[in-house]
Amino acid sequence: RTSLKVGLIPGDGIGREVIPAAKAALLALGSDIPKPEFVDLLAGFELFTRTGTALPEETIRVLEEECDCALFGAVSSPTRRVAGYSSPIVALRKKLDLYANVRPVVSVAANPEDKPSVDLVVVRENTECLYVKQEELTIGEHGKEARAIRLITERASRRIGQMAFEIALGRPRKHLTIIHKSNVLSTTDGLFRETVRGVPSLPGVNGKYDGVEVAEQIVDSAVYRLFREPQIYDVMVAPNLYGDIISDAAAALVGSLGLVPSVNAGDKFVMGEPVHGSAPDILGQGIANPLASIRSAALMLRHLGYTKGADRIDKAVDEVIREGKVLTPDLGGKSGTKEVVDEVVKRI
Ligand code: NAD
Ligand code: MN
Repeated sequence: RTSLKVGLIPGDGIGREVIPAAKAALLALGSDIPKPEFVDLLAGFELFTRTGTALPEETIRVLEEECDCALFGAVSSPTRRVAGYSSPIVALRKKLDLYANVRPVVSVAANPEDKPSVDLVVVRENTECLYVKQEELTIGEHGKEARAIRLITERASRRIGQMAFEIALGRPRKHLTIIHKSNVLSTTDGLFRETVRGVPSLPGVNGKYDGVEVAEQIVDSAVYRLFREPQIYDVMVAPNLYGDIISDAAAALVGSLGLVPSVNAGDKFVMGEPVHGSAPDILGQGIANPLASIRSAALMLRHLGYTKGADRIDKAVDEVIREGKVLTPDLGGKSGTKEVVDEVVKRI
């Protein structure tokens, strides 16, 4: 590659304030990565209210045909139902077959030589579970009744399982915890658990994952233990909804949602995305923490194999956090988004 074409989808709210930060970090890397070229793409609730479309065909086409990777900010989704609106991030993950959401949650130790107290990766299945969004409302004998379909397939569980084993294999501890609730949901979560457990004995694997230690845990007690002894976890693999909740919860362990990055990954494409949402409560104040977005750019590079560039970004972010002088208010600081970005870029 001589250039790296990056689709930028800022979306709504602070998505628009933090995506430029990721762009600045990529530009600061110079020749450690192929020359980045950016293309701005539309999506989001604000776009929907203006045009009636939340995810234009053109955005999908450019991503599929022209881009090597992408960065997504956040979109607002109203909690009430809005006719014709459906979350573009959920649709994008499906359309681009980005079947895994990978979310590393790592604390920054005060001393660079010390081990971080929290160092785990949540690997969330990204295409099914309750997110197939097949809900229905009917009137029963005693009033309204709402139902939702929760789909778990062997195929999706197998490929997310394989991704989780691969990630575990690449980490020092090589430990994988399967998160489920098959004591209650024995058919759906049972299929997820059994399929992930079966990955090491799939044809063609040939003992590759023998070094990975596998544990499992019921989701509610997993959250309890996550808060009391986060150091027991290395890689956690979970169906979509549990994975969503666990990774937001894990973010609390490291100080702020504004620190935690993710990538949506498939076999052919990768899209970085901060874990946080559009944060309407701090919108327009210039205080959104850009570090999750910047780290998402690093994580995207890591998935593409540009380890050196990714390391340089992560090191710069760690230094800024460790020094503690230029931080946004969510981390107890007094600085704005722009000052934090400048500080990170200077160190890259
Ligand atoms: P949120 O993540 O937007 O905010 C939760 C809290 O964390 C807020 O107090 C917010 O100010 C703070 N916060 C989040 N990111 C921050 C940052 N970078 N810097 C400083 N503080 C930060 O979650 P929410 O309030 O539940 O949702 C708001 C909107 O975002 C909703 O419309 C929701 O649907 C949407 N959302 C989108 C995504 C996504 O696009 N993937 C994810 C979650 C929520
Ligand atoms: Mn979430």
